[in-house]
Amino acid sequence: MDTKEHKIFQERMRLLSRSFVQELPARIDEIEALWNKLQIERDMKTLQALHCSVHNLISNGEALGYPELSVEVRGLEQVLKSLMQKNVLLDAVQSAGIPQQICELKKISVEQESDLTKDTTPVAPGRSVLLPSTHASNLIFVVEEDIEAAQELALQLRYYGYEVEVFNHSDNLDRFRTAVQHKPDAIILMGVEFTDDKMGGIHVMEEIQRKLARPARVIFISVHDEISFRLGAVRAGSIAYFIKPLNSTELIDRLDQITASQIQEPFRVLIVSNSSTILAYYTAILEQAEILVKTVSEPMKLVEILNDFNPDLILMDLYMPECNGIELTRVIRQIDSFLSIPIVYLATKNDFNTQSEAMSLCGDDFLIELTDSIHLVAAVTSRVTRARSLRSLMYRDGLTGLLNHTAIKEELVREIARSSRLNSSLSFAILNIDFFKKINDAYGHAAGDRVIKSLARLLKQRLRETDVIGRYGGEEFAVIMNDTDAVSAAKVIDEIRNVFSRLLHLSYYEEFSVNFSAGIADLAHFPDAARLSEATDKALYQAKQRGRNRVVVNTGD
Ligand code: GH3
Ligand code: MG
Repeated sequence: MDTKEHKIFQERMRLLSRSFVQELPARIDEIEALWNKLQIERDMKTLQALHCSVHNLISNGEALGYPELSVEVRGLEQVLKSLMQKNVLLDAVQSAGIPQQICELKKISVEQESDLTKDTTPVAPGRSVLLPSTHASNLIFVVEEDIEAAQELALQLRYYGYEVEVFNHSDNLDRFRTAVQHKPDAIILMGVEFTDDKMGGIHVMEEIQRKLARPARVIFISVHDEISFRLGAVRAGSIAYFIKPLNSTELIDRLDQITASQIQEPFRVLIVSNSSTILAYYTAILEQAEILVKTVSEPMKLVEILNDFNPDLILMDLYMPECNGIELTRVIRQIDSFLSIPIVYLATKNDFNTQSEAMSLCGDDFLIELTDSIHLVAAVTSRVTRARSLRSLMYRDGLTGLLNHTAIKEELVREIARSSRLNSSLSFAILNIDFFKKINDAYGHAAGDRVIKSLARLLKQRLRETDVIGRYGGEEFAVIMNDTDAVSAAKVIDEIRNVFSRLLHLSYYEEFSVNFSAGIADLAHFPDAARLSEATDKALYQAKQRGRNRVVVNTGD
């Protein structure tokens, strides 16, 4: 994060602190009013509302750097909580001190306000957090003495959606040096051997890396497998080392892994609290760590927002007027698709009893006193990373890394609900490789697997970020295309069909090519998941009937 962003963050925190102090008298008045009401009406609902207001004051105070206030209110909260737990409304002994505590609070609030006019507002303890920057790039520089081999490799890489520039050793390498300076995010494929220097590529990269602020990502390609060469490569910043003759499938796999990890989607965190201060505080901290945040202040809208936002993690306040965090967690856990979302409670020092209750009830994690933003971001990051890798094991296919059959069907239902609500179009496509059995028979199962992987890769490269791709079955794929009607979807899939049919696959004996057929239907003609899948299936069947290697759209006619 640069200093400008840091300043914006600090300013957000300062404003939050100020508005907290400015609102303090009104909040304490509200507490007093609830207390007075409780004495007249004596109902549990008022007691809960009073406890909630007091609890919010503590957590806001802790978060925004007013611990002395929290200490004062904590005694009050203890009394209220013990009344709630005992299910008694007023305990004469326990509650005797409450009016006095409210008076004390008022005094503190006046002091804080006068501090505010002197402008000694403490800066909220949120600190900015610098996360490693991610550099997404699809650009490859190939530096290779054998120009023909370099051009051949470039062609393969371009098929898979990479942008490639080829540099020749015998060229003046200055052109390459300049290119690296201008585009430091490119991945470099560097041939090691130069005619006049058998470690020429390594030496060139060493010299270039020294001048770069962030090391360039380089993969060396060499005829030498000796440790001295590999060591030299590592010292020149290699992220991979390939031996010639080059296995381009393995190389492309590796490039896909490297580029996939850099375009990881931002983490999505949903914060549930009725306190606008708490929402603003945690939003500011998470957003400056480039985490996508959505807030819910009305618990009754939670399920709808969950469906839309699909968060990686939920930060949940424990006390809200309409219901508490534990009840809400139970509701979420009873919806299948949200079973595995980590839920983290926003708690204060006072909540220890409730925290252990929370753990035993939901088996979830919890946070204590998250006044330290580095701790918060680290806690969120580690939980999201773990949840994502677990989900990936559950929902992804091992061979291709695409969504598996169950996951794509779930996604279809989710995306249809979203499109229907937004009144936007959606297409569903099923692709099936033609005569795949014959491919396996002729070239072996391993070659068949490579074909499946290459189609998966092509789909990932060619389709939009918003398209959802899955491996529907053995040699069958499904694609959900948002904001796309069937005619436009057919154009895209047909282009992919065309490219795929021109790819050359390798077996031990010979090169061969493969094609696929596809069926497509859209939501405008088939308005629910069952009818849409069935219509798409029918279109695929027709594509096969009409001779394969084609795309058929089902418009229901
Ligand atoms: P069509 O053009 O009608 O689709 O003919 P086809 O041969 O592709 O269809 P069929 O359903 O008869 O055969 C599909 C074959 O795909 C059968 C199965 O052995 C093979 N297959 C399924 N999953 C895998 C896999 O993961 N790897 C490999 N190598 N083959 C697979
Ligand atoms: Mg097939």
